[in-house]
Parts: sequence; structure tokens; C-alpha cells
Amino acid sequence: MDWLMNIKEEISELKDELIGIRRDLHQHPELGFEEHRTAGIVETYLEKNGIKTSRVGGTGVVGLLEGGSPGPVLMLRSDLDALPVQETADVSFKSTVDGKMHACGHDGHTSMMMVAAKVLARHREELSGTVKFVFQPNEEDAGADIIIEEGVMENPKVDAAVGMHLWSPLPTGKVGITAGPLMASSYYFWLTIHGKGGHGGAPHLSKDPVYCANQLMNAVQSIQTREHDVLEPTLITFCQVNAGSSPIIIPDKIQLAGSIRCLHDKDEQIRERFEAITAQTCALHGTTYELTFKCGNELLDNDMEMTKMVREAAIDAGGANCLIENNLQVMLGEDFAAFAKLVPSTFIFLGIADEEKETNMPHHHPAFKLDEDALPMGVELHVRTAAAYLKP
Ligand SMILES: [Zn+2]
Ligand SMILES: [Zn+2]
Repeated sequence: MDWLMNIKEEISELKDELIGIRRDLHQHPELGFEEHRTAGIVETYLEKNGIKTSRVGGTGVVGLLEGGSPGPVLMLRSDLDALPVQETADVSFKSTVDGKMHACGHDGHTSMMMVAAKVLARHREELSGTVKFVFQPNEEDAGADIIIEEGVMENPKVDAAVGMHLWSPLPTGKVGITAGPLMASSYYFWLTIHGKGGHGGAPHLSKDPVYCANQLMNAVQSIQTREHDVLEPTLITFCQVNAGSSPIIIPDKIQLAGSIRCLHDKDEQIRERFEAITAQTCALHGTTYELTFKCGNELLDNDMEMTKMVREAAIDAGGANCLIENNLQVMLGEDFAAFAKLVPSTFIFLGIADEEKETNMPHHHPAFKLDEDALPMGVELHVRTAAAYLKP
């Protein structure tokens, strides 16, 4: 008999356990690379269910489940970290840590993957290959890069990866799946423009860096609409501006910082144009500049075949009506992109929005809540994805 026939019932019997784990994690949020308690809980749970564990990145946990016969290695990935946010939502299992909160839903991700690991371990004989459960630290600040450097993709070598995010823009019960670019690359920039200070009443005797910055902040916006195809989204945002000490003194420098995000793979060209316009604008105004970039996230580009496979698994779990396949792209970043650059991967969204339950708040908001009724579906998606990829 097909072991997946009763999988919904099997998972629903674990719903109390699933929600119990999630609420405990929610009450005890830990920031990136400080997930000591959380990692310990994951480790103990996996070991109890017969899954070998090891550590990566200090607070990351890797669980290895070998199937009944040999085959490829599928990585399922969850993230452990919370955010420096003071929770304002009125829930009985509110965060007990001042100034810290699971405001992105990673407590849900971790609990779903723990229970999925338990279910898959019960049926390990039905799998050909290995599931590598990666509970990664510090998703909010590119923790993936660190654990990749530490070798998380090796021993055994990962052949493909799947990640999932609970997603408040989508209603509960819906699964967002699409091939191709899904989440933007983001590069942070720091730009200092050096001019010549002077009297506010005699700007002709100075080289005003504030005026130059004003021109520049407008000039670079043309890259998105006049230099690059607008159908390939590009976003340049200035989020920090620091200059001056008085209303009557022209400062000698201004510091700007922001990010450049691209939902396409020509991000390097965009940065080159940003620098060229900076250089020319500064030359025009007799100023000089220093510019540095740092990669926040790479482009998250979903693989066609992996996406197709997970789409089938989602239809088996929730019927074709559960799928949302359009308008899913966002200019936010996600560090799962680092894994997706190395192996065929897909990243999907699981809806949690229910207006009555007030679970439609934006991620990272202090009143963020998630609809726990969505969690069993997340477990089922993990289980069915592993079953499909590691089919004997
Ligand atoms: Zn987040
Ligand atoms: Zn997140």
C-alpha cells in the first residue's frame, strides 16, 4: 500500500505536538548565531526520533536520515533565528524575552521541519537516498554563507534543495510556487561624497556635497527606467543620509547608504552604472567619492524541474486549487539563494493569512502572528517533497 495514502491523518495526529513545539520556540526567541536553546531542542528531538545530528555554524543543526536504499541527497532547509523586535501581539505564548521576537515565522519553519523529520524517519524504508535536514542559524543576515563555507553542502554531497517560508501575503491553505526569479538580489552600498565646506551664505566658495548628493540621488533612479528594461525589476533605495552640524555651515562631506535590488541576473551591470553615474556627478560638482558594496543576498532563482516536482507534491497535498503561481515575486532577499546557486533548488511560500485571526500582518511587524492551522500543510509538503525526490 502506498504509505502516503494516510499521511494527512498521520500528520494531523501530531498537530498538538507541532503547535506545542512552535509555541515553546515562540516564547524563547534567539537572535542569529545565538540560537543555543533552539538548536539543543532540535538536536534532542531528532536524535530521539533516530536521526543522526551534527552542528554547523555553531548553532546550526544538520540531521541525516538515510533511506532504505541508496540514492540522491535532498536538503530540506529551515531557519532558527528570531528578530530584535518587541512583540505587541496579544497571544498566550508571547515572547518572554524583552526586545526579541519570532516576527518572521521561523519558529513555525523549525517546528514544521522537526515534525516532518519525525514522520519521514518512521517511513525511512520507503525512501531511496538521504534527507539532509538543515536547521540554519541567522537567516536574517546571510547565515547560509557561513554554513556553506563550513561544508554543509558536502558529506554527503547535496544534490538538490527545497526551502519554504510561511507567508502572510497569501491566505491560509494556499501554496505559492513558481519557477524562475522569486526573490531579489540585494547589494548594500555605502557612499561618502567629499566636497569643500563653507558658509551657508556663500556656497560659491565651497564644493557643496549636499547639493551633489541631491543631484546624484535623483540621477541614479534613471538606471531603472531609462537604462534597464523595466520588465526586469531593479530598485535603488537610499535609507541613510548623514551630513552637517548646523543650518549655516556647508559640511565638507555627506554619507549615504542604501541598497540595490534586482530581480534579474544583470545586477553587476546595474552596480557598474551606479558607480559611473556617481563618478560623473561628482566630477560635475567638483567633489570626490568613496563607494563600497557588500552582497546581502544573491538572486533566488527557482529551478524549473525542482519547482515542477514540488508543485506536484503540493497538488497531492492540497489539490490544484491550493496553488498560487503568479505575482509571487518580491524585492526582498532570502539567503536560501546561496544554496540555490549551488544545486537545483526551489523555494516556496505557504500562506498564513486569515483576517479574523489577524495573521495577515507583514513579516517583521511587532504584531506579526501566524495561523497555526497552516502548519500541518507545511509538514505534509516537506514529507511529500522528500517522498517524490527520493522515490525508489
Ligand atoms: Zn525575515
Ligand atoms: Zn524569514
